[in-house]
Amino acid sequence: MIDTTFDTTLSYAKQLDSQDPLRAYRDKFYIPKDANGQDLVYMCGNSLGLQPKSTQEIVDREMTRWRELGVEGHFMGESAWTKIHKAYADKMATIVGAKREEVTLMNTLTTNLHLFMASFYQPTPSKFKILIEYSPFPSDRYAFQSQIEWHGYDFNEAIIEMKPQNGETITTAEIEHYIDQHKDELALVLIGGVNYYTGQFYDIGHIAQLAQSHNIYFGVDLAHAVGNLPLQLHDWGVDFAVWCTYKYLNGGPGSIAGGYVHERHHQSNLPKLKGWYGYEEKTRFLMTDYFVGEPDVNSWQLSNQPVLSLVTLEASLAIFEEVGMNALRAKSIQLTTYLSDLLATLDQNTLHQITPHEPTARGCQLSIKLKKGDKNVFHTLRAKGILPDWRNPNVIRCSPTPLYNSFEDCWRVYTELGKIVADL
Ligand SMILES: *Cc1c(COP(=O)(O)O)cnc(C)c1O
Repeated sequence: MIDTTFDTTLSYAKQLDSQDPLRAYRDKFYIPKDANGQDLVYMCGNSLGLQPKSTQEIVDREMTRWRELGVEGHFMGESAWTKIHKAYADKMATIVGAKREEVTLMNTLTTNLHLFMASFYQPTPSKFKILIEYSPFPSDRYAFQSQIEWHGYDFNEAIIEMKPQNGETITTAEIEHYIDQHKDELALVLIGGVNYYTGQFYDIGHIAQLAQSHNIYFGVDLAHAVGNLPLQLHDWGVDFAVWCTYKYLNGGPGSIAGGYVHERHHQSNLPKLKGWYGYEEKTRFLMTDYFVGEPDVNSWQLSNQPVLSLVTLEASLAIFEEVGMNALRAKSIQLTTYLSDLLATLDQNTLHQITPHEPTARGCQLSIKLKKGDKNVFHTLRAKGILPDWRNPNVIRCSPTPLYNSFEDCWRVYTELGKIVADL
C-alpha cells in the first residue's frame, strides 16, 4: 500500500493547491481561527459546515422583510414565506438527483425520518422486519426502535443489523445475501447513504433494485452523503430519503432538513401524518375541514416554514449550483485520496484507516482508528490548530471538504498526527 515515491513535502501540497480549479471557493467561507489567530485546519464539515460569507446578508433580508411587512411577508416577494421551501427545490433536487416535485425542505432530519416511516413502514405479522446498516447513527436507531414499538412489535425481533464479516465495512455481496435471506419478512430496508462512522458509501442504486425486485420499500438517510457525492435518487428508484443541511450543505446549526419521495408514491394511498402546509397550496387558505393534499412530496409538509432556519441555506445552495456536484466530487476524490495516501505512509501499527480505500466506496470523510493512544491525540491535534472530530472509543474522523479545505490542510493533518502518534 505504501508508495515510496509519493511526495510528502509541503511544497507538493502547495503545488496541488495552486493547480486546484476550486481554490477560490475557500474565500467564500468564514474559517474559524485558532488561538494564534490563524485559520484552523477545519476537518469537521461532516458535522457542521462552515458559514458562507453571504449568509448574513440573506438572514438580514428576511429580518428586514419581517420588520417592514409583518404578516404580508407570507405572500409578498420572491421569498414569500408560504412557498419559500419550494423556491429552493430545484437546486436541492439537482444535488440529490431527483425531480423538483420529489424534493422538499421541512422540519429536521429525525422528524422527517419518523414522518416517512409513518408512511413507508407498514408492518404485518409476516412482514414486519427492517434491514439496517451496521452501526447506524444513534438517532436513527432510536427512530427505528420507537417506530417498531409504536406498531406493537419487538425491536430485537424486528431489526436486522447487517454485520460485516471482515473489519468494519460491508461488501455489496454481503448486503445482497442479507436481502435475499430475509426478503419474505422485510417491510423496509433503511440505510445511510454514507455511514457516519466508517465513511463507507453504499451502492444505493444496486440495493434499491434488489429491494424493489422483492417489493420491499427502500429508504436512505443521506445526512453524510448529501453535498458530499453526486446522487441519483430518482433514477436509482429509491422510495424515500431524508437528510440534514447543516453538514456538507452549510445551512447552519439545526437548519432545515430535506425530504424526498419518489414520484410513483405521490398519488398513492400510503397513510400519512398530515398538517395544514401539506394542503394544496392554491386552496390552503380556504381552511376546509377535509384534507386536499399537495400533488407531490409537499403533501408530507406539516407546518408553516421556520423561515430563519431555511434561508441560512440559500447562500450555500447558490455555491453548490455554481460549482456543480461533478466538479466538487472530482476535487473531493483528489483531496481525500491525497490525505489517505499521506496517512498510509505513517506507521500502520499506530493507526489504521477503516474507511474503504477505493474512492467509489467513500465520500470525503476518512475514519482513522488509533491502535495506540486515546482521546488525548484529538486534544493535542486541537491544540495545534487542527479540528477533526472524535468518536469513542478510538476513531478520528477527518473530512476534507472540497469547497473550503486545501491540500495544505491535509498535509498539516498528516504532519501533526504523524508527530503525535510517533511519540506514543
Ligand atoms: C447528523 C445525523 C443525524 C442528526 O439528526 P437531527 O435530527 O438533524 O438532529 C441523524 N442521522 C444521521 C445518520 C446523521 O448523520
